Amino acid sequence: MWTSRLLRRLRNNFQLSIITLMGLFGVVGITPYAVYRLVTGNYLVGFADTFIVVSTMLAVLHAWRTGDTVKPGIFLAIVFSAGSTLIAINLGVNGLFWIYPLILFNFFMVSPGKALVATILVLISLVGYSQLTPGTVFESDYQMISFLVTGMMASALTFVFAYRTNSQRDQLQQLAILDPLTGARNRRSMNDELRIAASLHRRHGNTYGVLIMDLDHFKRINDNYGHQAGDQVLVDFVALIKRSSRKENRLFRFGGEEFLLLLPNTTFADLLAAAEQLQLQIAQHLRGPGGPVTMSIGGALMRADEHWEDMLQRADERLYQAKNAGRNCIVIDEGTATASPLPTP
Ligand code: GH3
Ligand code: MG
Ligand code: MG
Repeated sequence: MWTSRLLRRLRNNFQLSIITLMGLFGVVGITPYAVYRLVTGNYLVGFADTFIVVSTMLAVLHAWRTGDTVKPGIFLAIVFSAGSTLIAINLGVNGLFWIYPLILFNFFMVSPGKALVATILVLISLVGYSQLTPGTVFESDYQMISFLVTGMMASALTFVFAYRTNSQRDQLQQLAILDPLTGARNRRSMNDELRIAASLHRRHGNTYGVLIMDLDHFKRINDNYGHQAGDQVLVDFVALIKRSSRKENRLFRFGGEEFLLLLPNTTFADLLAAAEQLQLQIAQHLRGPGGPVTMSIGGALMRADEHWEDMLQRADERLYQAKNAGRNCIVIDEGTATASPLPTP
């Protein structure tokens, strides 16, 4: 049913639901005023109201059609700020009441910094206009000062609230996708990214490869030097891989001491070259308390005719072969290339 699809989209996309809600408020709340002003012959305010209503509908429509909520948000913040300023200039105190919901509206539509700038510009425009043509917007200086102070107070409090909410949301997002020990992305994020990659591969032909990397004889480090020493090796491992691999590659902690690297735009030769380069870096630079630590790698390229979990299965089988071939070794599916174990210094 299209209504349940609609509701699902609203539930999953906070920004879209806010734009839609504000759009509804705008249309329902302002249309009667637009009609009233046009009927009573106040054409400037009537047209400003109509302009706001039509722009709001267009922006909401655009957000629904394209899924882009940033540009419609900026557009609506500009239209509402300019419209409310015009109305307040024309109606005086009766129009000033609208500035308070406008302040909240802007903070819902755009980033806290942009919203603060928009609000300050509105306040400056109103005060500036009233100073140039005395007796228009405010009935007295006392009223103007009170309006400025309350307007700034409302903006400052909303700014702090919006800023805190944004940073908490960012922190939560980080917590939800990162492994707390190593800082690599976690398994849940890996599943999401692989699902997206598989769909891009099927629809647009983007190529992807994966490398499953597993530390060799890692249990010995734990058994001989303790769990903490093992943890430190995992942390160092992730730092090394991140440093040695391209920015567009994504590193995930797949299991205990198993990691997965997702490489976009990758052919068989690229995947093998990347694996060799990483293997060399680890063999040369990763040190545990007992000396060098090495890893084995199993790799596979994404195929359109299989589920991404089957690709992982293929890579995992190759990892198993790499372990059996003596560890510190790479086996990649497809061409079944086998690199011989590297000597460690
Ligand atoms: P192989 O060369 O065959 O991979 O041998 P291995 O010893 O590395 O493999 P195995 O899978 O037997 O052991 C993995 C060990 O990793 C067992 C587990 O206790 C340890 N491990 C898993 N997660 C963590 C962790 O977060 N910290 C530490 N210190 N150890 C972990
Ligand atoms: Mg291991
Ligand atoms: Mg393992």
